[in-house]
Amino acid sequence: MKATLFRQHGGPEVLEYTDFPSPEPKAGEVLVHLRAAALNRMDVMVRNGWPGLKLDLPHINGADGSGEIAGLSNGVTEFEIGDRVAINANLGCGKCEFCINGQDNMCREWHLLGETIHGTYAEYICLPVRQLYKLPKNFDLHTSAAAALVYQTAWHSMVKRGNIKAGETIAIIGAGGGVNSASIQVGKYLGARVVVIGSNAKKLKEAESLGADILIDRSKEEDWSKAVFISTDKRGVDAVVDNVGTTFPLSLRALRKGGRLLTVGNSGGPRFEIDNRYIFAKHLSIIGSTMSTLSDFAEVMDLVVAGKLKPVIDKKFPLKEAAAAQERLWRGENFGKITLDIP
Ligand SMILES: [Zn+2]
Repeated sequence: MKATLFRQHGGPEVLEYTDFPSPEPKAGEVLVHLRAAALNRMDVMVRNGWPGLKLDLPHINGADGSGEIAGLSNGVTEFEIGDRVAINANLGCGKCEFCINGQDNMCREWHLLGETIHGTYAEYICLPVRQLYKLPKNFDLHTSAAAALVYQTAWHSMVKRGNIKAGETIAIIGAGGGVNSASIQVGKYLGARVVVIGSNAKKLKEAESLGADILIDRSKEEDWSKAVFISTDKRGVDAVVDNVGTTFPLSLRALRKGGRLLTVGNSGGPRFEIDNRYIFAKHLSIIGSTMSTLSDFAEVMDLVVAGKLKPVIDKKFPLKEAAAAQERLWRGENFGKITLDIP
């Protein structure tokens, strides 16, 4: 099969479009002919490598993908050849106490597709049946690939962990990234009033097109927590979606008493100082999570298929141009998801 892979960590130049052996489905697995993959910032971080990351090289990037069933192992009855499927990149073992309890994103043997095992920048992939969501015939495979990781992540954090309800006011830090744009849509779907703190006017305009109610430009207001306070009659917001990290100090100030800070990432870096007094004096909760569970994934994909959550696709690149696609993502030039078209 064709794949875009890397044999050593490094910049975009290490990506190589080449031939690679096709995988064979093991018991309980299916073979998927991928037609679309979607990019995440994690792809670039894995390509660059980090201390302690040990991969079997060559490695294939990619957590998100959609395609058609091309092969079945013995006994698989859930799918037929040709069925269209979206992939859930959150890989639990299916056997540990957390997986049995339906909390597979807390699995003791947890893997993320494309991080520690070969991902979706390839023509074929084999996965256990439980990792696949059956799409309606003719559902666009780029749309489903673009949805899978970011919507399940936003859904689990905001609905299952953060308990965001209709009528609440939430602030989302950042508008351009995949999880943040999904979070704006999920917030509106839940009936919340959504405040977006964006880095510039262009990103805020894009946030507005997704339904954001109140826009705050942090290039003009360094201490945007004050603007959030004013926009809520000095009450503060019920929850902040903060996937930047270094913005925690301002997020804690922007929350009302008893508010929740939700986080699934740290695009601004992992280490920063916070003032503990805000946490106890304001009765705040800091709630972290990553990815979602199998049942959340099915729930959120049902909403995507029903057109209630609509992934924005920024640009499609051919699989062989994955390096250019990753550069666009890493420079933050995209609005919505960048996808790869797989032959
Ligand atoms: Zn497990």
